[in-house]
Amino acid sequence: MSHQATTTTELPCGYMTPDGRLLKFATLREMETREEKILGSSNPDIMQVVANCLVGVGTEDEPSLISDRATLKDEVCPELLKGDYDWLLVQLRILSLGPEYDYTVLCPNTQCKKESKHTYDLDNIEVKEMPDPEERMMTWEARSGSTLEFRHLRGVDTEMLTEISQSNQDVLGKLLALHLVSIDGKGVSELAKHRKVKTGAQHLKAAVKLLDKEVPSYGERTKIRAMLLKARGMPDVDVISTCPHCGSEWTHRMPIDPGFLMPSAAV
Ligand SMILES: [Zn+2]
Repeated sequence: MSHQATTTTELPCGYMTPDGRLLKFATLREMETREEKILGSSNPDIMQVVANCLVGVGTEDEPSLISDRATLKDEVCPELLKGDYDWLLVQLRILSLGPEYDYTVLCPNTQCKKESKHTYDLDNIEVKEMPDPEERMMTWEARSGSTLEFRHLRGVDTEMLTEISQSNQDVLGKLLALHLVSIDGKGVSELAKHRKVKTGAQHLKAAVKLLDKEVPSYGERTKIRAMLLKARGMPDVDVISTCPHCGSEWTHRMPIDPGFLMPSAAV
């Protein structure tokens, strides 16, 4: 173990133990061949890479309070919020490959559209802290009179998020519905009991229908999105790129994808 580089970092959200204790610190080990094999597959499971490299969660004084492999894998990782996963991914990239991140972008200026290479120092990424890390559910009193409960997205939602973004259909509605937990205390699967909700996709489909019916107003849906965003903790991965060909400057999100963990990546 001693030859492995490790890093301890403060999480934007933190892991909440089953008995309600908030653990804000996590320790990672650097990536090894096992992780390279995952990255080298055709559909790499990035969350698996993070889970492999997570060696402890805890407090500032005791950052590896939980270090048991099985507990980390089966209890901690599935419950980590997506903002924490994204933060860990950035830290893992820095630990394993260094903070210099090379990326290639296409200029959005339609008169130019030229490709250019940039380097970003990942150590400059700041954290958007979760305003209330103890609060894991968000409640919305809908105009319809119902009480809607929403949750934060977790690392385990990554696969579904990829599916949604690739579906090219009702992406906004699906993203919102993915957060829906219950309406007036009744869970999505309970409310959709006459439908099949065995898989994640079926659950999402049911949530979309329920939410569309309960909150048809685009304005109200936008307000819910703002509430969810405000309550979130995450790395701020917006970067500003300047095109060396035409001088255009624009902001875009750094890609947190398999390419992010490779020595260089294209966006
Ligand atoms: Zn340009």
